[in-house]
Amino acid sequence: MSKLLDGIMEALLPPRCVFCRRTLRKGESGMCASCAASLPRRAAPREPGREAVEAFIAPLEFTGDVRDAVNRYKFEGATASAGVFAGILASCIEGCCAGEYDIISWVPVSKERLKERGFDQSQLIAMAAALDLGTVAVDTLQRVKNGKPQFGMGAAERYVNVQGAFAAADGELIAGKRVLLIDDIYTTGYTFMSCAAALRAAGARSVLCAAFAGPARRGRAE
Ligand SMILES: [Zn+2]
Repeated sequence: MSKLLDGIMEALLPPRCVFCRRTLRKGESGMCASCAASLPRRAAPREPGREAVEAFIAPLEFTGDVRDAVNRYKFEGATASAGVFAGILASCIEGCCAGEYDIISWVPVSKERLKERGFDQSQLIAMAAALDLGTVAVDTLQRVKNGKPQFGMGAAERYVNVQGAFAAADGELIAGKRVLLIDDIYTTGYTFMSCAAALRAAGARSVLCAAFAGPARRGRAE
């Protein structure tokens, strides 16, 4: 079935949980009560940063239904999920770094990826999360070289792949500011580190990095 037809069918059918796909009951919105109670929440949503990153923040582990939901969002265009992801991320941000940032921004996808996907998955989450937090997300970064998709790459290879991949788009906006940078997921943290380095080079005072889902095991980002 085409993506358009999929979208029409989706709109006609009763709303389903973005995680387990079960039909939602009355009073449930976005996710079912059972997923809300059993999502793989990280024991330590805030972890110490590395290099230019002040701290890594993620409410959930990138595993099981969370991983499936993120993949449907990114690769099957389930864009309605962005609001649900953003709500979970926003309450985590409120709980662990409220008052520690001046502006919210996001890790941009490449122009090629944007063209093929039709939307920037991190921008959607950042914009919705910022609204939940009573502010707006602003554009601060651009990709200056297209990193390859990182799936299947080893850690060292990933670092090389994203080093120098980003540049700050607007130095005036960033200078002296504490930036909260949002992405959909992080695994090694190297993409965040590369973005944070570009923001710090453009004068940002500090960079906090927050993603909807992070590494499944507890501990520092590797
Ligand atoms: Zn569910």
